[in-house]
Amino acid sequence: MPETTLQAPPPPGPLSTLSDDEILFRDNIRQFAEQRLRPRVKEMDEKGVFDHALIEEFFQLGLMGIEIPEQYGGGAGQFFEAILAVEELSRVDASAGVIVDVQNTLVNNALLRWGNEEQKRRYLPRMASGICGAYALSEAGSGSDAFALQTRAELKGNDYVLNGRKLWITNAKEAGLFVLFATVDPAAGYKGITAFIIEKDFPGFVVGKKEDKLGIRASSTCELILEDCRVAQTNVLGEVGKGYKIAIETLNEGRIGIGAQMAGLARGAWEYAGKYAQERKQFGKPLADFQGIQFQIAQMATEIEAARLMVYNAARMKDAGVPFVKEAAMTKLFCSQVAERVTSLAVEIYGGYGFTKDYPVEKYWRDSKIGKIYEGTSNMQLSTIAKLVLNAK
Ligand SMILES: Cc1cc2nc3c(=O)[nH]c(=O)nc-3n(C[C@H](O)[C@H](O)[C@H](O)COP(=O)(O)OP(=O)(O)OC[C@H]3O[C@@H](n4cnc5c(N)ncnc54)[C@H](O)[C@@H]3O)c2cc1C
Repeated sequence: MPETTLQAPPPPGPLSTLSDDEILFRDNIRQFAEQRLRPRVKEMDEKGVFDHALIEEFFQLGLMGIEIPEQYGGGAGQFFEAILAVEELSRVDASAGVIVDVQNTLVNNALLRWGNEEQKRRYLPRMASGICGAYALSEAGSGSDAFALQTRAELKGNDYVLNGRKLWITNAKEAGLFVLFATVDPAAGYKGITAFIIEKDFPGFVVGKKEDKLGIRASSTCELILEDCRVAQTNVLGEVGKGYKIAIETLNEGRIGIGAQMAGLARGAWEYAGKYAQERKQFGKPLADFQGIQFQIAQMATEIEAARLMVYNAARMKDAGVPFVKEAAMTKLFCSQVAERVTSLAVEIYGGYGFTKDYPVEKYWRDSKIGKIYEGTSNMQLSTIAKLVLNAK
């Protein structure tokens, strides 16, 4: 019998160490974000519309199907790469970050994990090459209490007929495919919730009003209207009545993505603040010469470092296949707090100029606010963390 030598795994490196492939991937995105995205950010924010040509470039760069296996035309990458992409894009524009985030961490993730082979063959190549995805759980009356949703799906013949309205759906204007949650049996509570794959051209499906928002203005957020929308049974994602599981599990991963969005945007604002502090002179010297300003910039850098390490750790845990629910909730909670603090300080370091739209930092501050709201508010993250650390109900 051949002798097997048991070897201990190599000691883990520093959390912030990236592999050569990851460095190449990140640098490509950074270059794209600087050269192609940054010049468009201000106008897209003002108009509240994301440039479609940039979304096409996301596809060309392989950013919209990062984890999709090669056989379906994707990049066959890891979750960690999706997180790097969200972080890098958000450093320049958090709207760009959330478009890529929703596509990879929610929609593609749901199709990859719960789609059957036929659904994967039908949809994944399109998700990797040109179709934007959206994830529709929230409704006017059900946000934090997501499983109180009212959208109804009734089986009639071979099709489900869906009626109801969804609210706040990111990417809705650009999306060709929606992973949408409805109940097949309101009396069954969360056990009636079922996920459906809906194409934008399905009869009875309409994208409604677009919200005029405080931040991430270029990312579309719309209502969805379903009026006798017929969806073939073959478009049920996963099992009937198991949609709640899909929602819980995809959002657990999504939260790490929002953490990355917040860590990225905090870094973007911090870079502006540091540069400005070295250029702007008061009392005959650069602001950065004053210890009060130095300490603020140092505090911001420290918080960004901690936020980013939490993001990387949670993402690596997910890729390693170990439980990460608590870490994902903590990451989103903390990164959104850091983002709000750092961007607010960046506005202050810019003084009066920071309060105007002629300078970039006020947008970072506006964009940071959403981190505490979507994919579970901060209170909901605290509630998850409390249950896990206290082993409470
Ligand atoms: C820009 C944007 C994009 C979005 N994108 C999407 C998307 O793509 N898909 C999607 O499905 N949804 C999306 N959402 C919806 C988002 O997830 C919800 O807004 C969020 O979950 C909060 O729900 P709500 O707005 O109904 O607030 P509520 O649930 O009404 O909460 C209001 C306040 O009450 C607090 N609260 C509620 N319950 C409790 C409790 N039990 N204990 C303590 N505090 C509590 C909350 O923390 C919050 O502070 C998006 C929202 C926005 C604003």
